[in-house]
Amino acid sequence: MLASRKSPVHRMGAPDRGGLDPAGSTPCGSGHDCEGRGILQIGDLEMANVLLTESCVRACPYCFAKQYMAGAASREISWENLIYVLDFLDRSKNDRVTYLGGEPTLHPEFSRFVLYTLDRGFRITVFTSGVVSEATLASMTNCLMGVPAEKLHFICNLNQPSLSPDAELASIHRFLNTFGRRTGPGYTLYQVDFDLKFLVDYVARFSLSKDLRLGLAHPIPGQGNACISAAELSVVARRLANCIPLFEVAGIRPHFDCGMPHCLFDDAELSAFCRLTGCPPRFTCDPPIDIGPDLSVWPCFPLHGCDSKSLHDFNNLSDVVEFFKQTQERLRSDRGGVLPACRACVLRDGGTCGGGCVAHLVQRQ
Ligand code: SF4
Ligand code: SF4
Repeated sequence: MLASRKSPVHRMGAPDRGGLDPAGSTPCGSGHDCEGRGILQIGDLEMANVLLTESCVRACPYCFAKQYMAGAASREISWENLIYVLDFLDRSKNDRVTYLGGEPTLHPEFSRFVLYTLDRGFRITVFTSGVVSEATLASMTNCLMGVPAEKLHFICNLNQPSLSPDAELASIHRFLNTFGRRTGPGYTLYQVDFDLKFLVDYVARFSLSKDLRLGLAHPIPGQGNACISAAELSVVARRLANCIPLFEVAGIRPHFDCGMPHCLFDDAELSAFCRLTGCPPRFTCDPPIDIGPDLSVWPCFPLHGCDSKSLHDFNNLSDVVEFFKQTQERLRSDRGGVLPACRACVLRDGGTCGGGCVAHLVQRQ
């Protein structure tokens, strides 16, 4: 299926960075202040995701945490553990934290956690479904509305409205009506026939940030979640490339999350993505660090089963990152990448492309 794209070998020695200096000063290597627009510092290895709760209100078919949440009696992080995490990040000279779940706003202490975290000098990104009860939304409005947007930003993971029950949609719209100006849309690609037009409507209707986080649903080993198979990746890439005119007209800045293969796009498409966002697109696999409510720590959900540890085993975030980097590199050197061409690909050797998500390799074993 790759025959119509350029072979990765054709790019030898000249990886397409869309004309931008790849050795930029920002962690994503773009030289652009993506963060100033409130999106995550993509490509930054030292990023910590803290799961405030394992409960969720939705049952998305692609959910990467399904099995993890099913195995637990809906644990919630305690104040003691949250303070331990923030002390740990402080010690690691890290001033950013991402809160997620499950659905993080379900934690009864959510607003107080956010205020405390801000008080400690951290900037916060919250991943939410936007499905928030009226009572919780009232409390969040009361406590958080006055916080500057650069200190607190939401990413709302949106599903196709036609697939969401009416009550869920009403709740999401209520949330976006309230917090839309400090929220960026997120969408998970888990089917090949996706249609992103509704996101453009949402951005306009709720004054959302135009930075769109596009995640690929990876296969979570043993979970059977809906995801894009290795064979379907090129179909998804074609459909995404076909969305470029839509993004251009609406001014949407699409940012790939991890695990997208570089060679599925030609030079013109890479340049178009680069022009849209002002940053080279991301093709790496840089696991963030996930921290569970009980302080267990792992490199991202597809790798949850490999070498899970406790935060207590480490002194700082760099040590955690280094430990899991070795896990990941072991898997990659044993099993190559998502495509047969990955083993000999110079883009992989040079670190421009991660060779797709390791989850495909784990599943293949
Ligand atoms: S292993 Fe997969 S999910 Fe984890 S960081 Fe890499 S691409 Fe992303
Ligand atoms: S590493 Fe693999 S996925 Fe990435 S560009 Fe090379 S062949 Fe394609």
